[in-house]
Amino acid sequence: MKTVTTVKEMRALTERWRRNGKTVALVPTMGALHDGHVSLIKAARAAAQRLVVSAFVNPTQFGPGEDLDKYPRDLKRDARLAANEKADVLFAPASEEIYPAGFDTTVTVGTALTQTMCGLARPHHFQGVTTVVAKLLAIIRPHQAFFGQKDYQQTLVVKRLAADLNTGCEIVVLPTVREADGLAKSSRNTFLSEEDRRVAGAIYQALKLAEGMLQVGERHPKELLEAVRKRLKSEPKLDLEYVVAKNADTLEDVLILSGRVLVAVAVHLGATRLIDNVIVDVPSGS
Ligand code: AMP
Repeated sequence: MKTVTTVKEMRALTERWRRNGKTVALVPTMGALHDGHVSLIKAARAAAQRLVVSAFVNPTQFGPGEDLDKYPRDLKRDARLAANEKADVLFAPASEEIYPAGFDTTVTVGTALTQTMCGLARPHHFQGVTTVVAKLLAIIRPHQAFFGQKDYQQTLVVKRLAADLNTGCEIVVLPTVREADGLAKSSRNTFLSEEDRRVAGAIYQALKLAEGMLQVGERHPKELLEAVRKRLKSEPKLDLEYVVAKNADTLEDVLILSGRVLVAVAVHLGATRLIDNVIVDVPSGS
């Protein structure tokens, strides 16, 4: 496996692959790879003839005071893990390579998908994500790019971008990989103390509670969200940013829960922000 750090070399490689008729898959990450990333890498490896894993801690998707500086970085380990999964390239550019002097373009997806949930507390986050994803798709020109359901809102935003910009790239979304107690694997879990790690288990329990309520017929967002909040608040160290139940395709609020229902939460545990979600298929009219 080759580690590539320049846009020029990355483009030359993928252009050659495309010329030779190879299919190309991309798994974009911020590095500090864990089993969640590995599940995406395995699926991408099986789907295409050439596989690029990118590891880039994208500064533009972090707000002031967020954890950009302390975000975990371990490129050697990432290269080892990507090589174990038989990636062809780890693309790990420096920040100046992606945002050189004079860089002055941003890509923005409309407000319905971006100015809700994570976009409320992190107003510039999705613009940072869509700008860097648009650049990665332009540099690598993958036929498919793989994303995790853990960042569900991001998957909708990226699908919109990929379609609207005629990238020709299919966005593939895979299930969230979890720890034994249900906590979604995340690079940020390394920030949690042993006690916080125990407390964080309540996030998935609260989501499972919502799933169970939907399965036995709860259709009112208010009751459902109250139960989820109550479960989360039973752990006083969890500071709730949002708890929502929405139409999973549009992120619209609904009066009656039916169809594909997204239940999503964002919490703060000390200085660490954690997000998670479940999607439940609720037969309409049931
Ligand atoms: P990140 O490095 O956190 O930006 O994540 C890179 C990609 O991995 C995104 O598409 C995430 O949704 C995905 N991802 C992160 N955690 C998980 C997980 N626990 N299960 C599945 N995919 C994940």
